[in-house]
Amino acid sequence: GSISGSSSPGENIKVVVRFRPQNARERAEGGVPIVTVDSAGKRVEVQSQAARGKPVEFSFDRVFTENETQATLYEYAVKETVNDVLNGYNGTVFAYGQTGSGKTYTMMGLSLNDDVHKGMIPRIAEHLFQCIQQAPDSLQHTVQVSVMELYNEKIRDLLNPESGHLRLRGGGDGSPVHVENLLEVDVSSAAEILEVLHRGSSRRAVASTLMNAVSSRSHSIVILKVHQQDLATGTTLTGQLSLVDLAGSEKVGKTGATGQTFEEGKQINLSLTTLGNVINALTDGRRKHIPYRDSKLTRILQESLGGNSRTTLIINASPSSFNEAETLSTLRFATRAK
Ligand code: ADP
Ligand code: MG
Repeated sequence: GSISGSSSPGENIKVVVRFRPQNARERAEGGVPIVTVDSAGKRVEVQSQAARGKPVEFSFDRVFTENETQATLYEYAVKETVNDVLNGYNGTVFAYGQTGSGKTYTMMGLSLNDDVHKGMIPRIAEHLFQCIQQAPDSLQHTVQVSVMELYNEKIRDLLNPESGHLRLRGGGDGSPVHVENLLEVDVSSAAEILEVLHRGSSRRAVASTLMNAVSSRSHSIVILKVHQQDLATGTTLTGQLSLVDLAGSEKVGKTGATGQTFEEGKQINLSLTTLGNVINALTDGRRKHIPYRDSKLTRILQESLGGNSRTTLIINASPSSFNEAETLSTLRFATRAK
């Protein structure tokens, strides 16, 4: 069955697209906006040079324009997942897109004190602890945070970097797949979650490319685990929410990267391609084999993708002619996922 009580495949998988405003660099390069979103917020037309100005059309569950706020995105795409986790389900929220498309803005926002621009993670943290505060006294909650980075198919614990590369365990024998020795930090408020994340994010691996002075080549995965114990009945309930700021989806060629960075690019594309394949297989109800095992990213997230889990893919893209090729390839990925 599924969360909503219906069992149609793909129901628990949502793909939404978000365009950011054109930036100064794009304008300086003579970029002009080439995307038009219909009034229902479901279809986007791209005026493609490659297609000789003929519009290329895409449809999604929802398309957010540059004028739509973080609050609107949260309400539509993310909030329900927090309620699911409190009901004992797992969920995953991904931010996908080329470097500079707004993934980190979407997940974290600009500044935590900035109420308008704060991203999905601070909103999730607040909503979660609001719900916990409003719960009956007989329910005892424990919330744990872990933060890891997947870089070159290697897992690093960002809350405990000294632990080296961590291994994946479980799966084959029916036990849940999990990252061995991953540190889980107990937190008791939204502010504490953000403090822990701040500690973790200062340790993400980055490498320079020609495309951006500093470009993120790693996947960042935050897991919020919520345990509830009913003191009256002794029953327990556990749900977990995975929040993933994916590595840039740009083609390696365009960044002019070579050597080690080229190897990284191949690995990143492997994880992203597999993610697309897994979501596609989950959406298509006839498929029995879900290729979780083809990449570490999908193995780590196996328990939170598919089944009763709710998955949201937030596709971030540029609206500018300057990034036409990457935007089209991003929208094609999103279409294939759905
Ligand atoms: P990514 O994480 O995909 O590399 P960022 O989130 O760092 O991209 O965004 C790149 C820049 O664009 C940042 O300066 C960010 O603040 C800005 N930006 C991204 N999305 C938006 C948006 N929807 N509204 C305003 N500014 C945005
Ligand atoms: Mg980023």
